[in-house]
Amino acid sequence: MQTVDFGPGMKNRPIRQLDDKLINQIAAGEVVERPASLLKELLENCIDASASKIEIQVDRGGMKRIQVADNGFGIPRRQLTLALSRHATSKLAAAEDLFQVGTLGFRGEALPSIAAVSRLTLASRSPDQDRGYQVAVQGGHGISEPAPVAHRMGTTVEVQDLFYNTPARRKFLRTEKTEFNHCDQAVKKIALSQPTLEVVFMHDGKTVFHVLPAHTEEARKKRISSICGAQFSRQCVYLESQVETLALSGWTGLPTFSRAGRDLQYFYVNGRAVKDNLIAHAVRRAYHDVLYHGRHPAFILFLDIRPDLVDVNVHPAKSEVRFRESRLVHNYIYRTLHHTISELTPNDGKVSPPAPADIPLGTAHTGGHGRYPAQQNLRERVSEQLQGYDALVRGYRNQEAGPGGMSGHPLTGNDRDVPPLGYAIAQLKGIYILAENSEGLIMVDMHAAHERITYETLKAQARENGLNSQPLLVPVQINVSQSEARIAEDYMEEFENLGVEINRLGEEKLVIRSMPDLLSRSDVENLIRDTLSDLAEFGVSARIQDAQNEILSSVACHGSVRANRKLELAEMNSLLRQMEEVERSGQCNHGRPTWMSVSLAEIDKWFMRGR
Ligand code: ADP
Ligand code: MG
Repeated sequence: MQTVDFGPGMKNRPIRQLDDKLINQIAAGEVVERPASLLKELLENCIDASASKIEIQVDRGGMKRIQVADNGFGIPRRQLTLALSRHATSKLAAAEDLFQVGTLGFRGEALPSIAAVSRLTLASRSPDQDRGYQVAVQGGHGISEPAPVAHRMGTTVEVQDLFYNTPARRKFLRTEKTEFNHCDQAVKKIALSQPTLEVVFMHDGKTVFHVLPAHTEEARKKRISSICGAQFSRQCVYLESQVETLALSGWTGLPTFSRAGRDLQYFYVNGRAVKDNLIAHAVRRAYHDVLYHGRHPAFILFLDIRPDLVDVNVHPAKSEVRFRESRLVHNYIYRTLHHTISELTPNDGKVSPPAPADIPLGTAHTGGHGRYPAQQNLRERVSEQLQGYDALVRGYRNQEAGPGGMSGHPLTGNDRDVPPLGYAIAQLKGIYILAENSEGLIMVDMHAAHERITYETLKAQARENGLNSQPLLVPVQINVSQSEARIAEDYMEEFENLGVEINRLGEEKLVIRSMPDLLSRSDVENLIRDTLSDLAEFGVSARIQDAQNEILSSVACHGSVRANRKLELAEMNSLLRQMEEVERSGQCNHGRPTWMSVSLAEIDKWFMRGR
């Protein structure tokens, strides 16, 4: 057998206390992974110093130089050396403070960690001094005596040659461009979290962005537009919600404004940007039903929670948090977003459908996916649903035509009573409904729209009728871990409410006896396994509902009006009215838009007609 040489570390050596320099280098490994991570720490210090303006200069992706200057309350001369010492902080005094952290920093590790792996100068002037003082340190060695320097009120930290003394770490850095992108994200994160902070951001001597303090909602939106791009700011909705100990506010993207990556996702807990699985899961769930497959939502959201209900001290870079009541937080985020998204019907004046360029291309929707066998009872349900639809149309047909209704009278200037999606005037190529509202022209993809309506109706029916639980012909036994078996027992009631009868057979064995009838022929074992793993991690799971919804969605797709079916005006109008009523009708089940509008003003422009 070959042996592997693990190097000198494997020899038996005596235990000894590490020296400070080594300790700082080890700590630097956690806090300073790359230029962007030290930039983040420096920016957080500016915020903690109540700065209202920050100037950032980054050279060569931050690998050569990062300088951050603020106009905050500064550091007095006699404390400059201390600021660079390990575990020295002005932000915590006692252990209790750790559960009431009101600042971004509190561990007193950032500056010494950065100093250990770079050449750092720290210059500052506090209000009681008539000049500034500066200290310098290289690779964590011998901090210089404070020397007088010209400096306005505030602090400037300059970090040069990151990892110059730790070549092994330098090798982990990527290209300048990649490192710059990370720096860019770090600056954006801070700029978005502090709407009244002026931020000047320069790279290699050129301005990347310069944003001014925003005090009104409109100004904030403009600021977001300069940071995240005009597309997002045009296609997001503002939300604000509050319950006892929690509040959620911010901007969330319309489902039709989705992204290929997660780059436009900003989530803050008490002002601190965090990455959190639980939160990510809740957001993903909220968008589950409306997002184009494989796309990611965009959002800038702020969760405020009573400080004692969240632990921020779980990660050296402070980018993770732990909630005391994680399930409550998860449900709150999910419900609030889900509600906001559901409300996005054409009735919502603030919401406009996307411009054609924003629709993701590539993965054409191929109709239903034959993953689940069509079931007899389902067919019946669909035909009921379609009969309901026909009845509705008939009812409509028997009514007198409203203004511009069946008769297709042209609408004049300021019709007040015109519904948001207007009245149908024609059908184009058997695919699109053309309608006229008070603003101009509406175009509706009738299959996509009807599919969403059918789907939402089927879901509502399933909710109302309860989930028909059906005994499995052959009960399914699954081997699980003890902890999974315990979870299954703990959540037995929840399972029952979903139509799943589950029992523990032994220490490590479960048996599933009944399933909701929609799911009786699905992969029961995997569905339950996935549900248990969600429950273990998040305390909640929506796998079972999702699996049912997937079937309903496929049913809706097959049961909806196909393209090339000729519709009468009354039928078209009926569809438009339903779209105004039904939740999430702005997107089809695959996240594509169901309708678009062109205002008269735009049409006038096409024809160069001034009014
Ligand atoms: P922490 O932020 O966790 O306290 P740091 O190492 O980041 O630890 O900073 C150490 C201390 O130096 C801070 O507690 C603060 O008192 C001071 N300090 C650092 N940066 C600034 C700044 N930009 N303005 C004022 N004080 C600062
Ligand atoms: Mg800090």
